[in-house]
Amino acid sequence: MKIGILGAGQLGRMLALSGIPLNHTFKFLDPAPNSPASVAGEQLCGNYDDTELLDSFIKDLDVVTYEFENVSAKATNYLTNKVKVFPPPKALEITQDRIFEKRFFNGIGVHTAGFYEINSKDDLISAVKKNGYPCILKTRRMGYDGKGQYLLKSKDDLDDVLGSIEASNLILEDFVKFDREVSIICVKAVNGQTKFYSLVENRHREGILRLSTAPAANTNKGLQETAENIATKVLDALDYVGVLAIEFFVADGKLLANEMACRVHNSGHWTIEGAETSQFENHIRAVAGQALGSVNNIGYSAMFNIIGEPPDTESVLSIPGAHLHLYGKEPRPNRKLGHITYRSDNFADFNKNLINLTAQFL
Ligand code: AMP
Repeated sequence: MKIGILGAGQLGRMLALSGIPLNHTFKFLDPAPNSPASVAGEQLCGNYDDTELLDSFIKDLDVVTYEFENVSAKATNYLTNKVKVFPPPKALEITQDRIFEKRFFNGIGVHTAGFYEINSKDDLISAVKKNGYPCILKTRRMGYDGKGQYLLKSKDDLDDVLGSIEASNLILEDFVKFDREVSIICVKAVNGQTKFYSLVENRHREGILRLSTAPAANTNKGLQETAENIATKVLDALDYVGVLAIEFFVADGKLLANEMACRVHNSGHWTIEGAETSQFENHIRAVAGQALGSVNNIGYSAMFNIIGEPPDTESVLSIPGAHLHLYGKEPRPNRKLGHITYRSDNFADFNKNLINLTAQFL
């Protein structure tokens, strides 16, 4: 099949690298020339809303998917009338807006942090009064990796924010005093077949994912089952096809949904070496209408993001069990340049080495 991918970043690159062995070919659309995925297929360069460009993009495609979630509804609606598009654009519209997303979760009975819609400074003042400190102010749309977020711990923080931002299209969230953060990656095929990877534990710094470990430590069967039940509700409500990731806070043993991504996800990168079938291959199999592969873990995995500066390649490659993935991006502060997956079959070795690797790469 010829598969079109909107976005040509590292996710597109890893999707194509996993689909080429299945004899699929890939074409990308991305505004930035020579993007990371362009090594794995033809890249058209331009705006996602350019309907003439979209027409030439889909000319020889069997199906379109995305690795970038902020493609406009205008573009996806245009495409759905002409070609198969998975996951469904309805999922994109919900995940593009934090208020829509939280209302969607609550509407299907999934708990989230308390939240308030903010469209003015008065809204913000009264929401902070109702919620109390600490709380987090975020942009509703286009925020990622901690961008557009303000942690408010006191009246001083609130005054700073009131003096420096335009208070519209924002969301104020209660700050969850979580014990840890976990995510579930799941995948649904065209015929309804659904699979769930084991829960992943995630550590963030400055709003950016730094480390994922899988399976998440000390996870009882109940927590995995609860996450799977929530994911099933989401998949069903959206008539979903493809990989979906849901990020949770674990607080007092309960799961609160933070956000979801209707694409392959950074907290699933470990699956390339750490699961029988990677999230990338399973996404491609799903959108191509093929049977899904096993999601069983192969031992224990840890994934460290490489952020801002590249590591010394040879020293990473000399670590037994370590796998290096570089995305071909120019170094820039806070930019994800690649990741390292460390995998081991032995739990004691894994934990021992994780301590050393964490000191080196976190
Ligand atoms: P987000 O962009 O919503 O995924 O936020 C990035 C990270 O910031 C999360 O993974 C958490 O570590 C932290 N964070 C975001 N929202 C909250 C919240 N309501 N309470 C506590 N921590 C949060």
